[in-house]
Amino acid sequence: MTISLDLSRRTAPAPVTFALATAERTSLVGLSLEELREAAVAAGVEPAKARMRARQLWRWIYHYGVTDFSAMSDIAKEVRAGLAERHTLDRPQIVERQVSSDGTRKWLLRLAGGQEVETVFIPDVARSGALCVSSQVGCTLTCTFCHTGTQRLVRNLTHAEIVAQVMVARDDLEEWPTSNENRRLTNIVFMGMGEPLYNLDNVATAIDIISDGDGIAIGRRRITVSTSGVVPEIGPLGARTGAMLAISLHATNDALRDELVPLNRKYPLEELMAAIRAYPGLSNAKRVTFEYVMLKGVNDSLAEARALVQLIAGIPAKINLIPFNPWPGTQYECSDRATIQRFADVVNRAGYASPIRTPRGRDILAACGQLKSASEKQRKSAILAAEREAAAAES
Ligand code: SAH
Ligand code: SF4
Repeated sequence: MTISLDLSRRTAPAPVTFALATAERTSLVGLSLEELREAAVAAGVEPAKARMRARQLWRWIYHYGVTDFSAMSDIAKEVRAGLAERHTLDRPQIVERQVSSDGTRKWLLRLAGGQEVETVFIPDVARSGALCVSSQVGCTLTCTFCHTGTQRLVRNLTHAEIVAQVMVARDDLEEWPTSNENRRLTNIVFMGMGEPLYNLDNVATAIDIISDGDGIAIGRRRITVSTSGVVPEIGPLGARTGAMLAISLHATNDALRDELVPLNRKYPLEELMAAIRAYPGLSNAKRVTFEYVMLKGVNDSLAEARALVQLIAGIPAKINLIPFNPWPGTQYECSDRATIQRFADVVNRAGYASPIRTPRGRDILAACGQLKSASEKQRKSAILAAEREAAAAES
C-alpha cells in the first residue's frame, strides 16, 4: 500500500508564445462541432461548406492532436490562414508537472482568468489507465474529510476546459493519434476537483466530445462520473451522457452521512438510493460504483460493513473502499489495513467486488481529496520563501 518516495519533478516547458496578435486569439481546443462550424464561417468558409470543414478540423484536433494549423493538409491554405488569424490550438498552460514513483502523473493547469485546476493520470495494471479530471475550480460542498472542499474560490469549468485536460494528458503521454494502439489513457473519471453534477451542462457536452468515435474516442462506458449525491441531477446525467455512475456514499445512516457529506441534509439516503435504483441503463453490465472512504473509528466497523451490504441490496454495484488520504489539519485518520481488510471481507462475502483502492500518487499529493489544496500550499510556501529571500537581500 505504500509507495517509495522517488519523486521526479520538473518544471513545465514555457508556454508557447506568439507575437503581438495572440492577445485576442482564442483556442479551438475543446470546442464542440457546432462551435468549430461557427469558427469556420467566421474565418471565411461559405456556410454551405462549413460543416464539412468543421468535421475536418475536428479530426485534426481530436484524432491527430495537431498543435499547428499548417499540419491540416486537406484544408485550403486561405482557410488555414483565416483560422490562424483568429485562433490557436493552444492547450491550457501547464504550471507544474509531476510524476510519482508509481507512474501517476499530475498536471497543474492555468485557465483563462488565472484560476488553476489539477488533472491526474493513474496508470493501472497492463496497458490501461484512468485520467481523473476536474469539473470545477474548487468545490462549493464541504465534505469534512476532503481538502478540495476547504477551497474558497469556486467556478464551473467550461466544456472546453474539461476536454482540454484530456488533450494535455494525451500530449504528455505521447498518445496521438487516437488510432495509436499503445494508448494507456483508456478511461476517464470525473473524480478530480469539484462536483460534476453542479456543472452538468458542461460535463455532458465534454462527454459528447470526448466519446466521439471520430476524435478522442473514449467510449461512454469508459467514462465514470462521481457525485456526492446531487439527487435531482442523477437521472438527467444518465439520460444525457450514458456515463457510468459513481456515488460517494461514505456512510450508511443519515446521522453520520449528514456530518461527512453535508449535502445529505438536503438529499437524504432514502432519496439518494431511489435515484440510484432508477439510473438509466443500470444492469450487471453497467454497475454503479459506491465509493466509501475508510475513516478510522468513524465509519469502519463490521456493523457498518453489514449495513452497507443491506443498504445496496439488489443494486448492481461495485464497492470501492478508499483508504483515507490525510492532509494537514484534518481531524481524520485512515483505518488500519486489517480493519479495511475485514470490512472488505464482509462486502466480498455478500457477493460484491470490493477492491481496496491503492492510494496512487500520494508522494505528489495527487490522491483523492488532495487536489489543488496542495498546490496552493506549495505556492504559498514559495511566496513565503521569495519574501524571505527579498528580506534577506534587503538587510
Ligand atoms: N465531488 C465528487 C467527485 C470528486 S471527489 C464526489 O464527491 O464524488 C472524488 C472522490 O474522492 C470522492 O469519492 C470523495 O469522497 C473522495 N475523497 C475526497 N477526499 C478524500 C480523502 N481525503 N481521502 C480519500 N478519498 C477522498
Ligand atoms: Fe466536493 Fe467531492 Fe470534495 Fe465533497 S468530496 S467537497 S463533493 S470534491
